[in-house]
Amino acid sequence: MNIAVLPSSPETAPQIADPLDHLADKLFHPMGSDGVYARTALYEGVVERLAALITSHRETGTEVMRFPPVMSRAQLEKSGYLKSFPNLLGCVCGLHGTEREINAAVSRFDAGGDWTSSLSPADLVLSPAACYPVYPIAASRGPLPKGGLRFDVAADCFRREPSKHLDRLQSFRMREYVCIGTPDDVADFRERWMVRAQAIARDLGLTFRVDYASDPFFGRVGQMKAVSQKQQQLKFELLIPLRSEEQPTACMSFNYHREHFGTTWGIQDTNGEPAHTGCVAFGMDRLAVAMFHTHGTDLPAWPAKVREIMGMQPLATADAHGEGWR
Ligand code: ATP
Ligand code: ZN
Ligand code: MG
Repeated sequence: MNIAVLPSSPETAPQIADPLDHLADKLFHPMGSDGVYARTALYEGVVERLAALITSHRETGTEVMRFPPVMSRAQLEKSGYLKSFPNLLGCVCGLHGTEREINAAVSRFDAGGDWTSSLSPADLVLSPAACYPVYPIAASRGPLPKGGLRFDVAADCFRREPSKHLDRLQSFRMREYVCIGTPDDVADFRERWMVRAQAIARDLGLTFRVDYASDPFFGRVGQMKAVSQKQQQLKFELLIPLRSEEQPTACMSFNYHREHFGTTWGIQDTNGEPAHTGCVAFGMDRLAVAMFHTHGTDLPAWPAKVREIMGMQPLATADAHGEGWR
């Protein structure tokens, strides 16, 4: 018997399924670009409950701010983002020319050509993390009070890292608690949140470990920055083995920026020294994907304790016996 063996080419080679792929149909609708998805009601319901759970752990004296998905380009440039992650930044562009120039660009498109060559950058970028806009706002309030300031911030974030993996999106939600104060204020804050965040993950029935981490700094110089960041223990991550134990997914991070933002924005602590800052970031979309990966997509079948912590209705007695489950 002759079996035709086709040479393996990218088209014919079997696609290796990712362990998270089975969730795609239940959680997302494709929108024509990797890492950018419409979200189902099932998924969004869990994101909302996770957000409420994180809110329930907010410390008293924390000021709430919600940011739009864009921020001032000048502020992000001043924050030093281009020195570390220029490859991830998305910049808002527009057709800023005269009526004639704009019409010419549209006509080029209508004729099958490229309209985008007429674009020029606006004064906005897509926010790559939720906390950047809070530092200049804090700076505008003058010297810090004793004990520093704490904020609860959130934004839709963008990072230009297209991927087919459901835990690496280009557009995703980030929630953060931020502390601005003396080195001790920030060290205590991070310590408290590392304990509290692990308790939250445990309550959610997630398997995890916390480890030192480094940011994905760009380029060869970036690799040196990453080593130094790890040595100084400036970043920790809460890692969940969604894909494998060896390549776990960071679902939260605990960051100490030292005096970087304090110096950049001229924020002074009570001793007249540049303020130190730190933040704890919750990747809302990654946490939601982790919940579905761990407990499945059938919410009534989630462990009773997890349902309770998430504020979901207790199942009726009949349901608990397996009847009438929605
Ligand atoms: P990673 O190393 O996985 O890219 P990161 O170090 O870039 O993560 P942070 O900058 O600490 O992540 O961002 C805070 C949190 O935002 C992360 O812990 C993660 O939960 C979430 N996050 C970051 N990038 C993405 C992404 N591309 N898609 C979904 N969530 C993300
Ligand atoms: Zn932050
Ligand atoms: Mg990253």
